[in-house]
Parts: sequence; structure tokens; C-alpha cells
Amino acid sequence: MFRTAIAGSLPKPAWLAETHKLWPQWRGQGAELADAKRDATLLWIKAQEDAGLAVIGDGEQSRQHFVHGFLEQVSGIDFEHKVEMGIRGDRYKAMVPQVTGPLALKGRVHATEAQLLRAHTRRLTKFTLPGPMTIVDTVADRFYGDRVKMAFAFAELLNQEARALEADGIDIVQFDEPAFNVFLDEAADWGVRALERAAQGLRCKTAVHICYGYGIEANLQWKATLGEQWRQYEKIFPALAKSRIDQVSLECLHSHVPIEMIALLDGKEVMVGVIDVASDAIETPEEVADTIGRALQYVRRDRLIACTNCGLAPMDRHIAEAKLRALAAGAALADQRGGK
Ligand SMILES: [Zn+2]
Repeated sequence: MFRTAIAGSLPKPAWLAETHKLWPQWRGQGAELADAKRDATLLWIKAQEDAGLAVIGDGEQSRQHFVHGFLEQVSGIDFEHKVEMGIRGDRYKAMVPQVTGPLALKGRVHATEAQLLRAHTRRLTKFTLPGPMTIVDTVADRFYGDRVKMAFAFAELLNQEARALEADGIDIVQFDEPAFNVFLDEAADWGVRALERAAQGLRCKTAVHICYGYGIEANLQWKATLGEQWRQYEKIFPALAKSRIDQVSLECLHSHVPIEMIALLDGKEVMVGVIDVASDAIETPEEVADTIGRALQYVRRDRLIACTNCGLAPMDRHIAEAKLRALAAGAALADQRGGK
């Protein structure tokens, strides 16, 4: 049976936060907000199990944004005075916190939701953290004066949290590195090294999710400039193939990424994106199984994990639920087809 998993994020229910936004405002505060985050996490664990997914995540219900959620527990960062900065190669402007001193963890970042996840499913669990290069691209540096140095400082902190997640019983720790797709030479040069530093010493599985982003307008416009064939992965995958990271993702449905890029990941497990996050149309099981079939030309079936192209956070909640069911149904159909 093909394994199935989501990339990471899921929509937040309307009673938890603003909907259809990447940086939503929370509805409540204090103890009430903490309860609401917990309730939303439990709800999505159940929804993923009901859909039939093999690997279960927390849906990132407890963090406002996948990078800033981690940074909130890091000292040396000034969240009070955010500044506007162009991120991902100036693709969009964001209000980002500033690094003003040496970085250190104030304590555990994701203990509550990781332990909640572990306690409420018997299936494999996956937990996501932002990758060092993507963090560096989402903060303003007023202290280190060197992107590489700052990335390794963050990698050390990520490693502390990743080891703690492993101790919580998490089976797969995934680092999200959308910035790899933007800074290709730097990614192959020091990005992968910083990532390995973040994953150093882990005995659980490790994964990296690189992608062309959520289905928001700024990304759609950027994608339109990338040409007929998206060959960015050609530069990054060889470095990742040589790395110690176990699993690598790529978008395969409705994407301009040539599917033969998978061949560059020889020896790795591949999270094959079979669910489009930029469209509200629900994939049919046949469509999902067809995409899995195309990927199987380049990856062994026991190394293929059927996955969403990216996170589902900005989507409508009911559409996301339907997409989870389509993912599981399509993987089951591919299995029935005997992997052809
Ligand atoms: Zn993504």
C-alpha cells in the first residue's frame, strides 16, 4: 500500500483564526486560544485518519505562519518592531521581525502540539519545522551581517527542537525550504549543509519539502514567469541526493516540473505531490493514481509517498477535507492497479 501524507499545513477553522489567509489573526487569546488550537489539532488528526492517510500531522494549527511560529520561541529576535521586507527574491512583501542579538531557544517550541499528536494517533506522525535558509529569508538581520552564519545559528536551534520532537515520539521531522527554489546556487552550496546541521544526530526519518509555494496570487504570477519547464530542482536535487536527508518532495500534479527530475533523487524516498493546492477542484482518484503511475517510472514503489503539492492552509476547510479523501482514494486505486 502506498503511503500517504500531507505536506504540512491545513486550514484553520473559522473559530480559531481568520480563514483563507497565510498570516491570519487569531480569534481568541490566552487560555481560550490555547484550547482552540488544541481542539483544532484534534479535529484535523481525526479528519486525516478518517480520510485514510498513513502519516498524520498536526496541520500546523498552533502557529500563525510556518516560519514565525518557530521564531516566537527564539530570543535575540525583536517582534515588537517588524519591518517590511521583500522575501523569496522579492516575490512578496512581508512584515518580518528583526534579529538583534545572539540567537537562542527560550524553551520548547512545539511540545504541546507534538505530544498531543503522538497521544492521539497510532499511525506514523510527521512534524514540520521551517528550514534554516527559509528562516534567514523571512527575518531582517541587524546582528550577524552574514546569511550563512545566521543560517547555521538557526540550524543549531532547529536541531535542538528536532531532537526534542524525536523524543516526543514523532516519526518524521520535515524541514520546509521553499527558499531553495529561489536561491539555487546558495541552496546547493550552503543551504543543504545548513539543513543537514538542523537534522544532525536524528534517528527518526528526516524530510525536506521544497516547493513553488501556496496557491496565492503572488505565487501564481511568479510561476507564470518561470517558463514552460520548471527545472530549478535540477540544481538542488543532486546536492540533496548526496545528503543524509531521507525524504524529498516535489509537485507533480498541474506543475511544470518535469517528472524525470525524480531520477535525480536516486536512493531517496520521494513525496510525490498528487494534490493541487492552487485549485479548488477536487482531484478524482483516477487523476491521483495516474500521477502516481507517472512517478513510478522514476522511483521504486516502496520509496513513493503520495502527498499534497504543498500546504493546504489558505484553502476552504471543506475543500481541504475533500482533497484529503481524494489523496487516500487515489493512492488505494494506484495500489489496486499494481503500481502501473
Ligand atoms: Zn510548500
